[in-house]
Amino acid sequence: MRSRLSSLHKKPMTTAYKLFINGEYVEAASGRTFEDINPATGAVVAHVSEADADDVDRAVNAAEAAMRGPWAKLPQADRLAALRRVADEIEKRFDAFVDAEIADTGKPRSLACSVDIPRGAANFRIFADLARGFSTECFETDTDDGAGALNYGVRVPHGVVGVICPWNLPLLLLTWKVAPALAMGNAVVVKPSEETPGTATLLGEAMNAAGIPPGVFNVVHGFGENAAGDFLVRHPRVRALTFTGETRTGQAIMRASAARVKHLSFELGGKNPAIVFADADFEKAVAGTARSTFSNCGQVCLCSERVYVARSIFERFVERLGQEARKLVAGDPYDSKTTIGPLISKTHREKVLSYYELARQEGATVIAGGGVPEMDSPFDTGCFVEPTVWTGLPETARSVREEIFGPVCHVTPFDDEDEVIAMANDTDYGLCAAVWTSDLSRAHRVAKRIEAGIVWVNGWFLRDLRTPFGGVKLSGIGREGGRHSLEFYSEIKNICIKL
Ligand code: NAD
Repeated sequence: MRSRLSSLHKKPMTTAYKLFINGEYVEAASGRTFEDINPATGAVVAHVSEADADDVDRAVNAAEAAMRGPWAKLPQADRLAALRRVADEIEKRFDAFVDAEIADTGKPRSLACSVDIPRGAANFRIFADLARGFSTECFETDTDDGAGALNYGVRVPHGVVGVICPWNLPLLLLTWKVAPALAMGNAVVVKPSEETPGTATLLGEAMNAAGIPPGVFNVVHGFGENAAGDFLVRHPRVRALTFTGETRTGQAIMRASAARVKHLSFELGGKNPAIVFADADFEKAVAGTARSTFSNCGQVCLCSERVYVARSIFERFVERLGQEARKLVAGDPYDSKTTIGPLISKTHREKVLSYYELARQEGATVIAGGGVPEMDSPFDTGCFVEPTVWTGLPETARSVREEIFGPVCHVTPFDDEDEVIAMANDTDYGLCAAVWTSDLSRAHRVAKRIEAGIVWVNGWFLRDLRTPFGGVKLSGIGREGGRHSLEFYSEIKNICIKL
C-alpha cells in the first residue's frame, strides 16, 4: 500500500458540538464535554457536550410535546413535504456535511461525496414517497344479522422513537432510521456514536431550515453503557428503539428494554461470506471481492471477511486479490488519489491489529498487508492499517469466525457446492453474502440456501431502498427498508365498524 501526503489536506479546526433539543443547540446540563478525534491525524475535531439522564429526559419531553402538538396535527402531505425539504437542506449544505463526515471518520472525500451524504439526503425523499403510497388491509366480515361489519387497519405512530447509531456510515445510517420514523409521524431522540457526532449535529440546522417543528428531531451526544445510550434505552416514554451496532450491544439493549417491552429493530454484526465459483467472470469477481472487503476500510457491516473460491481458480484469485489490496492508497482524504481511509479510532485499530497478530499465531499465510503502513506527517499519527489477505486457516480459527470489522479477509478453497454452502452457513451470523457465478440455476439454488438476510449475485452493496434489509441469527432482528421500515415505525390498529 502506498501512502500519500497532498497539499489538499485541510487542517481541521476544533469546534463545539452541542446537543440539539427542541429545535435549539444547548449545552449539557452538567457542562461536561468529550473530545471528538479525527482518526486520520489524531487531531481534536470538536469538544462535544455529553448528555446525562436529565438531558435525555429533556429531549424525550420535547419529542413527546411535539408529537402531541404541531407534528401530530400536520396533514400527511405537509409532513412528507417537510421531509423532502430536509433532503434539499442537506444538499444545500453538502460541503459542510462532507467535511464533518471526513473530520470524524477520515474516509476519502470521494466516498463521502458518492455514498454517505447523497444517501443521507435520499433517505428523506424515498421514505416520503413510500409513506404516501402505504396502504393497509380492509375486510368485509359476515355477522349473524346479515348486516355485516367492516374491519380496516390504520397505522399510528409509536410516539417517541429512540435511534442509536454506529460510526461507520454516520449520516447514512442515522437518516435511514430517522426518515421513515418521521414519515410515519413519530418524533425521535437520536444518540449518534460518540466517535462521529458531526453530521447528526448539522442535521439539526437542516431540520430547522426545512420547517420541521421543534422537538420532532433531537440529538443527545454521549457514550453507551451507563451513559446517554443506556438512558435513552431505559427511558419509560421511549416506545420503540432502532439500533445499529455490535451484536453484544444489541443484547444489552434487549435486556435493558425488556422491562418496558419496547419495539426493537436491530441491525447487528456480521462475518459475511463471498463465494466465487469457477464459472464466474474472473476479473469482475476479483474487483467485486476487493470492493466488498476493503470499502470504507472494511468498516461496512456488509463487508466480506470470509471468501470461498473454487479450487481450480484459487491460486490465481488469491494472487489477484493480493494485488488489489496492495494497490489501495491511504492518506489525505481530500486527495482524489486516496482510496482507503483509516480505522475509526486507536481502540479499534488495536482490536484489528490484535486479529492480524492472532491470525499469524493461528497459522495464516499473509498474502498482502498484515501490518501498519508507513505514513507521512500528519497521517503518521492516524489509525491506518494495511489492507490484508490471509489464506491457510482452518474454518475453526477465531480469525475466521469472529467479526473483525477491518480491511481484511481470509480466502479458503472449496471443491463443490454443498461443501461451500455448509462452510458459508457455519457461522453465528447471517447478514449478507455475495455469490459470483455465470450459472443462472446455480445462482438461484445457492442464494436460496445461504442463511442470510441479503444475498447479492454478481455484485455487492447494490441497494434499492424499497427492499428489505436486515440479518438472521446474531446479525439482527426485524427488517427495515421500504414498507418494512414503515411497518416498524408504526403500530397497526384494527377498527371494526358494525354496519
Ligand atoms: P457499538 O455497538 O459499539 O455502538 C453503537 C452505538 O451504540 C453507539 O452509539 C454506542 O454509543 C451505543 N451503545 C453502546 N453500548 C450501549 C448500551 N449499553 N446501551 C445503549 N447504547 C449503547 O457499535 P459500533 O462499534 O459503533 O459499530 C460497529 C458495529 O456495528 C459492527 O459490529 C457492525 O457490524 C455493526 N453494524 C451493523 C450494521 C447492520 O446494518 N447490520 C450496519 C453498520 C454497522
